[in-house]
Amino acid sequence: MNTDISSLKYCLENYVADPSFRSRMQTRPQETLQEHGILPDTQTPREDVSSDTEMLLEACCRLCRCSGELRIPEEQNRYLLEFRAHQQEIMREYERRIADDAYADRRLLLWSRQVRRRCRMENRQFRRRDAIQYYPLFFELSDGCSVQCPFCGVDAPLWKSDFAYTPENAGLWREILQISVRYLGRVAGAGACYMATEPFDNPDYERFIYDFRAVTGLVPQTTTAVADRCPERIRAFMEELGPDAVRNAALRFSIRSLSQLRRIQEIYRPEELKDIELLANNPESLNQYSLSGKGIRLRARMGEKGRDKFLRYGICCTAGLRVNMVRKTMEFLEPELPSEMFPNGYRIRETRTFTDAKEFETGMRRLFETWALPELPEDAPLQFNGVCRIVEKETCIEFWGDGVGCSLAKDGGFREAIRLVSEEPTTLTQLYRALSAGEGDALRLWQKFQYLYERGYVRWA
Ligand code: SF4
Repeated sequence: MNTDISSLKYCLENYVADPSFRSRMQTRPQETLQEHGILPDTQTPREDVSSDTEMLLEACCRLCRCSGELRIPEEQNRYLLEFRAHQQEIMREYERRIADDAYADRRLLLWSRQVRRRCRMENRQFRRRDAIQYYPLFFELSDGCSVQCPFCGVDAPLWKSDFAYTPENAGLWREILQISVRYLGRVAGAGACYMATEPFDNPDYERFIYDFRAVTGLVPQTTTAVADRCPERIRAFMEELGPDAVRNAALRFSIRSLSQLRRIQEIYRPEELKDIELLANNPESLNQYSLSGKGIRLRARMGEKGRDKFLRYGICCTAGLRVNMVRKTMEFLEPELPSEMFPNGYRIRETRTFTDAKEFETGMRRLFETWALPELPEDAPLQFNGVCRIVEKETCIEFWGDGVGCSLAKDGGFREAIRLVSEEPTTLTQLYRALSAGEGDALRLWQKFQYLYERGYVRWA
């Protein structure tokens, strides 16, 4: 990362996390940047300093979507251009990990694409964020999480124990990874080795990651909320991963409080932090929390103060398996908009247990074959997605999600079929029977429901 990006990164992270930095930047930008050592020394010509100040301030405003008058066109702001180019480079790397050819099974690829399309249809905020992806495999190397952030969107339970790197466990781990790569393809390495866990709770976390890299060829991303608790350990981890991996966002620090941000900025040298995103999760930050998991209780406690702090979106990036190596469980998850029924932003379709690699393989195959279906099963009860609004027009029926929609011709028994499915979950087979549909009509009906299923308007229970 070059100096311009480092300067903007440092400035932006403080701008997002710290309201007093933000207001000082608005009123005395040059002084604030010099105080923090972001701007070059006083030897630099005055006009350069003032242009750098303006560019940094405007870059922060643009990246945070703050209102206000902006004078420098985006294409003339070199900080912004370089920062965005670097972000895109990272995004391309993560997109490569889930590219079509990363999937060994075309059916899983299609289903994964459908899940993403559904989530984007359900939530317009997601449509604005291209970087949000879903991965078919996540591991947890602890049972529970010691940190217990009050905003935890997946409601991590209290830490109980870790998966130790014993010879037996290490052997099982490597076998499971090999099976996963054989079955899923390269995409098996695209997820992470934490979900409702804190990676560095497990004293052997790094050793599992080095094995993960050796087997899958990929370094999974690690986000830690305790970067100030174990800096030497994290430095050694960075050293072992190497600069290319760190540059590709292998490591991210979650910031839980302003004092933690200051501690981290004191503990780590700027060169050490230059490729590590400091994700502001402190309550004063501009970032919003997911209205799911512990966030629901936090929202209630915050009352009026929490009005704009929460957004209804799921933070679960798993569409597929969550494997807990301590409990030896494998759960098939689908991301969901948080609701009373799915408060943590995901639904668990089925849970299986395993004791060895063979059982893991059998369970994994069964779960994907049962639940990751790109085609609508004819014998499963269908229902409309809770966000779907149905509008009948003269010749067609419109289906609306959050700001997007589609329409289908109202021919055949389609109108009646929509009515039946709206009333109660109904299988396609039941629909054919109720409508006395011949072969051609049944096929046309299937095609229409399949079209809606691929876009997420219809789900199966
Ligand atoms: S957000 Fe992460 S670190 Fe915090 S409680 Fe949840 S799982 Fe643990």
